[in-house]
Amino acid sequence: CGIVGVTGTNQSVSILIEGLERLEYRGYDSAGIYVNDESGTDYLVKRVGRIANLKAALTPEVQGLAGIGHTRWATHGVPSEENAHPHFSNDERFYLVHNGVIENFKQLKAEYLAGVEFKSETDTEVIVQLIDRFVVEYHMETKAAFLKVLHLISDDSSYAFVLMDRETPDTLYVAKNKSPLLVGIGEGFNLVSSDAMAMLKRTHTFMEIQDQEIVIVKPQEVLITDFDGNEKKRDTFRVDMDA
Ligand code: GLU
Repeated sequence: CGIVGVTGTNQSVSILIEGLERLEYRGYDSAGIYVNDESGTDYLVKRVGRIANLKAALTPEVQGLAGIGHTRWATHGVPSEENAHPHFSNDERFYLVHNGVIENFKQLKAEYLAGVEFKSETDTEVIVQLIDRFVVEYHMETKAAFLKVLHLISDDSSYAFVLMDRETPDTLYVAKNKSPLLVGIGEGFNLVSSDAMAMLKRTHTFMEIQDQEIVIVKPQEVLITDFDGNEKKRDTFRVDMDA
């Protein structure tokens, strides 16, 4: 239902939580965050119900320099902690938040992930397990594996994705199709969200993302390429509105 991502600031947890609170009005059944401090320590916290429940579950050590957050409106699988996002690969290397529906997730699961144990009933978990499979077993780079999976997702699917890889903890891998998602440009940090509202407290400068693009977001850099690998230039725009 709603997505927030951040990289490049030790304020990551507050940014994710305040962003999820801004998205509350859209409705949701559960919420979660994943944060990484870039020196090997990471945290995943998910709760059913209100953002207040998630907030109450955060102990002081839950901090990071980059992270992703999600409010879920269940489409596949009941509202539960297991089905709440972020979802992760079984080796706990990849973490993914997703808005939308992957229409062909059952086919993908049957074709590529026979024998893999799933922790949730979601369409989303299939995508993160599949990315992991291409990286770990076929030795693909994360961006290439992500792109390959995007190609395998049927055109009638909808998604806004933000992916994190423990091996490149300052990087958000971002893509969308028929679901809203945009980048927020900060000073020394960058943001991603499904709604500009969720970022307005931290920046007024945004960058649009189009369908069929992969966006690599780092603290000081936003790199957009199309699915054929061509780099795309994108102007920023300002939203002069207060959060
Ligand atoms: N299809 C995903 C799920 O059921 C994402 C739902 C959403 O957009 O919140 O978990």
